[in-house]
Amino acid sequence: MMVLTKKMIEIRNILSKVGQSSTLTLPSIVVIGSQSSGKSSVLESIVGHEFLPKGSNMVTRRPIELTLINTPGIDAEYGEFPDLGLGKVSDFSSIQRTLTELNLAVPDSECVSDEPIRLSISSPNVPDLSLIDLPGYIQVVGQGQPLALKQKISELCDKYIQAPNVILAISAADVDLANSTALRASRRVDPRGERTIGVVTKMDLVDPVRGSSILNDKQYPLRLGYVGVVSRIPTTAGLFKKGNANLTSAIAKNENSYFSAHPLEFGPGADVSVGTTTLRKKLMHVLEQTMSASLQSTSDAIQQELEEATYEFKVQYNDRPLSAESYLAESLDAFKHSFKQFAGDFGRPQMHELLKNELDQRVLDLLAARYWNKPVHDLSIPIPEPDNLADLPKADPDSPFWHRRLDASTSSLTKLGVGRLATNVVATSIQSHIDRLINQSTFVNHPFAQQAITEAASSILNDRFYSTSDQVENCIKPFKFDIDMEDREWAHGREHVQGVLKKELDACEGAMKGLETTVGGRRKLKEVMTFVDKARKGDVIIEGESSSGAGGFSAALLAKGREAVFLRDRADIIKMRMLAVKSKQCANMKNKYHCPEVFLDAVASKLASTAVLFLNVELLSEFYYNFPRELDTRLGRHLSPEQIETFAREDPKIKKHLEVIRRKELLELVLEKMQSLRQLEGLERERAKQN
Ligand code: GDP
Repeated sequence: MMVLTKKMIEIRNILSKVGQSSTLTLPSIVVIGSQSSGKSSVLESIVGHEFLPKGSNMVTRRPIELTLINTPGIDAEYGEFPDLGLGKVSDFSSIQRTLTELNLAVPDSECVSDEPIRLSISSPNVPDLSLIDLPGYIQVVGQGQPLALKQKISELCDKYIQAPNVILAISAADVDLANSTALRASRRVDPRGERTIGVVTKMDLVDPVRGSSILNDKQYPLRLGYVGVVSRIPTTAGLFKKGNANLTSAIAKNENSYFSAHPLEFGPGADVSVGTTTLRKKLMHVLEQTMSASLQSTSDAIQQELEEATYEFKVQYNDRPLSAESYLAESLDAFKHSFKQFAGDFGRPQMHELLKNELDQRVLDLLAARYWNKPVHDLSIPIPEPDNLADLPKADPDSPFWHRRLDASTSSLTKLGVGRLATNVVATSIQSHIDRLINQSTFVNHPFAQQAITEAASSILNDRFYSTSDQVENCIKPFKFDIDMEDREWAHGREHVQGVLKKELDACEGAMKGLETTVGGRRKLKEVMTFVDKARKGDVIIEGESSSGAGGFSAALLAKGREAVFLRDRADIIKMRMLAVKSKQCANMKNKYHCPEVFLDAVASKLASTAVLFLNVELLSEFYYNFPRELDTRLGRHLSPEQIETFAREDPKIKKHLEVIRRKELLELVLEKMQSLRQLEGLERERAKQN
């Protein structure tokens, strides 16, 4: 028969994973009693080990859901805390320590907590039982304990002693049963005494005649009766220290000698139940009966719950199967697909454009520094300037001055560290494209995966960075000494640089507009600019750089004025240079000293094209090859099932979807087990009939 209980307890444990619904569970035996009634001693005599928290200061603060699993044939008995992941603990004093810690973790201010501690004990010496140990009722509130404590414990117990659970009400023989808190509590929820087992402890402390009469109590009759026990560890304690598996039999022996010494009161003729062994048998029998009795209603409840889950799965999720693994795999596939598309669109032309844009900026900086430089910033030092800006292109092209200027500019350009710059520009761009792909993918809701992908990209890029930049630097080396330019390249440079200048001009004019708005209008800005111009020529004098300003303008306004003058001059020069570049003179490469813009642009293009050849081989192709593999490693093979589960649950929608499926699967599993249980039960009944 007992195999049924084991199976039902197994089902009970699966159900506890489904959720906290009181109808969705099988009954258990709930142990209640006042403090010091001997509750722990009774439980330990059943388990055969000392394992419950001991101490004077309210040591049981949480319910302990204790599952005993009869496991024949194992050498070492062990306990497991399924929620802690500690594995099998075969040292019972260690179980006791863990339980004490878990209980003491409940803050004093809360006193007790509803959250159960789950513990299972497997041993060949325990019966299959499911027991719930609750905090002991307290009579008097102790020092430092809040008044509400008594109430809180009582409420917690009330929650558990509801039907269909069996109540194991512990009372001590040396306390009048009328004063037993446990019996009073049980009476409230089980007035006819249908599902309460009375345990009377400390039978050795009262006169045997009185003890016997307690067990025959007629004042509080219980259908399941009373059992008298002596569950104290015998005083020859040396033998029965912690960890001794014979605790049960030692207690039984001690009890036997006590009860058999009083055959009149406790012998077969006395019609009373005594002894821990009797109690164990009773518990097993009652639990099995009770569980069997609620099998049908529980199974109906599960069936209904399953129907609800199935409906939700259909309506909300269109019956779409999903697992954390499949979700990850699909997300990864989709991401790799979008990456493949990106890889098809991002190649040499795109890299060239990126790099050329960057070099255009450098060319502009060089031109500004070496050709367009007019020190207009420092107002306190008026500097004479050429009367006519148009002097510049007219400068004598044969003068070594202009030769040196262009050579120095070219050299600055080729030596600015193109290798690093180019590699950096491309790597940064790839990284930001990857970020964009992440943001467009399902991974956007998964911080963990985002980080894994970003790191996959950066690890490859970092790995290749130095060798790539060295290679690029090497291959542009010849340009540092000699630049061989073709007409076609010149013509292209001339064309292109006009666009660059135009963009720069637009930027200057845009900034000028911005300044106008900040100072409060065009006229205002003009006034300040006129003043700044005069100051520059020395027509007005600004005494030092005072913070209070000058000429009726605040310092802040003067600063804006200076900026505007700079922008205006820059724009004037650019316009002039645009004309120069367009002029016939600049159409011919021979006049390169007249046309530094065109020459430097053409050089920049050569640098970009050469760099891109190597970037393509050294960086881009490598990246395209390695990135998907790196993704597989970081988001595939290397993840544990727990990590995959955590990943999938980061997305609340996916989490809900997964939960519905899990619930459905668990309920199906339980139903299946219940069906086979019923068949088993039927067989047992048949067999019983035949015998
Ligand atoms: P709990 O507070 O209800 O868990 O009670 P304990 O099991 O810790 O027992 C309280 C005290 O009563 C301890 O000192 C036990 O040794 C003692 N005790 C428990 N059962 C018996 C018993 O059957 N006979 C005697 N004489 N003492 C017992």
